[in-house]
Amino acid sequence: MTFERMWAELQPVGRDLHTGGYRRFAWTRSDHDLREWFAGEAAARGLDLVTDRAGNQWAWWGDVDASVAAGRKGLVLGSHLDSVPDGGAYDGPLGVVSALAVVEALQREGFRPSRPIGVVNFVDEEGARFGIACAGSRIITGALDAERARGLRDADGRTMAEAMTAAGHEPARLGPDPETLARIGAFVELHVEQGRGLADLDRPVAVGGSIWPHGRWRLDLAGEANHAGTTRLEDRRDPMLALAAAVLSAREAATAQGCVATVGKVRVEPNGVNAIPSAVTAWLDARGPAEPGVRAVVDAVAARAGVAPVEESWTAETTFDGTLSRQLTGLLDDAPLLATGAGHDAGILAAAGIPTAMLFVRNPTGVSHSPAEHAETEDCLAGIEALTTVARELAR
Ligand SMILES: [Zn+2]
Repeated sequence: MTFERMWAELQPVGRDLHTGGYRRFAWTRSDHDLREWFAGEAAARGLDLVTDRAGNQWAWWGDVDASVAAGRKGLVLGSHLDSVPDGGAYDGPLGVVSALAVVEALQREGFRPSRPIGVVNFVDEEGARFGIACAGSRIITGALDAERARGLRDADGRTMAEAMTAAGHEPARLGPDPETLARIGAFVELHVEQGRGLADLDRPVAVGGSIWPHGRWRLDLAGEANHAGTTRLEDRRDPMLALAAAVLSAREAATAQGCVATVGKVRVEPNGVNAIPSAVTAWLDARGPAEPGVRAVVDAVAARAGVAPVEESWTAETTFDGTLSRQLTGLLDDAPLLATGAGHDAGILAAAGIPTAMLFVRNPTGVSHSPAEHAETEDCLAGIEALTTVARELAR
């Protein structure tokens, strides 16, 4: 079975042996291995591989440029292969592997698509290394400025431009890529569900309805380094206290607003057990059903921590193409429509005006961005079957 073979091949790549989680960050060795793997799978199916200006990989079945010239844009399936720190196996790769399996299934049954079908591997979806999620899709749509992207730094101070160069890619090419976007008539991203919606409904597959508005803010909390033993409490300027207030207020405001808020990344200077910190940098992730609630959470955190949060990214609410979503629901035995609090490349393309839809595969516990993330093989296969049905119809 082709799904199980591909899944087994990806299993060891970028896996941390201690945590069991994945550390597949953009433009690293494991990312390189995943990109090579993708190129190999594309070649095995006779697909033409194109790498766009941001480094996203597109594998086309059929001559897409000739088809676009004739007025028929392609149908694109796929997702991403990178991960968050200690991420699970399914977030991203399930969509890429499913797309490759769909192409293979259609080729095997002798299907002749009326328009080219592409499989995409978006680069740097999680933003784990340089801090901006969906960097690959944001760059080609112009939602992320190329100059800003090139200058983004990882935890070791390396810029994205340097990391790309080291990986053999040309950072000077970064920028809006209308030629790539013009090939996409529709994009359908299959993804493991990052919640328990389908488990509660006892269904294997859902159609994506919308993505909550969401953003990331940096909190720069300043203090003064000093000795943990000899500095009187009243003489301290300890930014860790501001962090504590920020974290608690984020939780309280999120509860009050019906939102979610998380402080999951913190940098402490000098990071010594017996030193009062000189500075704490923390990142706030806030999301909710509507923008005013999310903004209220950020304002509450700013007020309690006494800082002006720096907005590192903001994505407005994304509603997927209604016609396309209804069509998918109809094709898939009245599959439920689910909104999600997670961002996706599909959301970036939808915001750029491309007809876009998502399929979600049941996650029995709802756990994601964790080594415990899981989906039953049976449900993954149901997802592939659903995506095959969709592709057959959209490229009929
Ligand atoms: Zn994902």
